Amino acid sequence: MKFCPNCHLTYDDSANVCGQCGGPLSVIPQQVQQQVAYDPTDHTAEFSAQDISDNKVFAMLPYLMSFIGVIIALLAAPSSPFTMFHVRQGLKVAVVEILVGIVGAIIPIIGWFALGICMIILLVVEIICFFRVCKGQAKEAPIVKNLGFLK
Ligand SMILES: [Zn+2]
Repeated sequence: MKFCPNCHLTYDDSANVCGQCGGPLSVIPQQVQQQVAYDPTDHTAEFSAQDISDNKVFAMLPYLMSFIGVIIALLAAPSSPFTMFHVRQGLKVAVVEILVGIVGAIIPIIGWFALGICMIILLVVEIICFFRVCKGQAKEAPIVKNLGFLK
């Protein structure tokens, strides 16, 4: 991948000059490319900085308090798209917890063991999401995002 230092546009390796300004292109190092790479699960750019800074506290609640946090967030910041994004993500994690809980509980021993592992994984997912809210990000919850409901 190459980029134009003037226009910050990216081109593939076959390009020699910038289509915008005609200037020479620089090669982007491999590590930088991975950071620049578009992340389809990162929706941070869709929300305003004002919304994020005003409603961060409410956006954290679904991850901290599960369904209770979802309800508080819905009541406290219903007009905040940033909060609603995290309400959907938090709800997703909470629903998965319940489903895992039900399935795990009805299968003796193996189910209980699997349940324990799943709950630890889901807790880690919630912690990751919580810190992302702290940083003002709106990324889909890891692992849980692959389940195709509540986009
Ligand atoms: Zn250019």
